[in-house]
Amino acid sequence: MLFDTHCHVNLYPDVPRLIREIEEQAIEVSLVTTEPELFPDCVQLVAHAPHIHPALGLLPHEIHRLAPQVECFLEFLPQTRFVGEVGLDYVTEDDAERRLQRSVFERILSACAEAGDKIISIHSRRAADAVIERVGRNFPGTVILHWFSGSPKNVTSAENCYFSVNPAMIKSRSGKKLIRAMDPAFILTETDGPFVEVAGRPARPSDIRQVINFFSRDWGCSHAEAEARVAANAIRAGLG
Ligand code: MN
Repeated sequence: MLFDTHCHVNLYPDVPRLIREIEEQAIEVSLVTTEPELFPDCVQLVAHAPHIHPALGLLPHEIHRLAPQVECFLEFLPQTRFVGEVGLDYVTEDDAERRLQRSVFERILSACAEAGDKIISIHSRRAADAVIERVGRNFPGTVILHWFSGSPKNVTSAENCYFSVNPAMIKSRSGKKLIRAMDPAFILTETDGPFVEVAGRPARPSDIRQVINFFSRDWGCSHAEAEARVAANAIRAGLG
């Protein structure tokens, strides 16, 4: 049983084919979205695809345009357990922009905490400390740090957070170092397709097998055993 906890299904050039492929292979996919107003269309898109779960998202790196949609986010939130992608992106060095990102992210986190059962895929580029601090140690719900690129020390400090590993991370030296700092019981898988590429084309959920392959080598177990371990994590996280 395979899990792709962060895939932009609606952004592929061949959406109907991708949806068919996911359903045929019975991969559990979280369809992450970039802005709240797109959520209803994504719900429609996968209405007949039981393995694809639409998530409600608001991208931090376009906060000036998207901040007004936070009300819309809060309105749709009761419709789904899946949230993402949300978070902080400190590639910008503009203080006002970072402040606005934080205030929106804090509202999102507190609404999710109040609900208590959300599964949240979080973006934390150059903002690992700020994200981990806001999530805290005992967040009520499931927190998944997606494509994590902080430090190994951050990994240890992110108690009770899951990490979703994608095909790009297993190819980079820094990615592998981070993966080895993670508690294997908190590891999940993702593609972040179509943004992550595999062999020069957009990653597809079936490419999760490459990530499982990496774990099987790293953990010294069979492919089936590595797949079962990640699936057990996903089920514990509420994804299955
Ligand atoms: Mn993404």
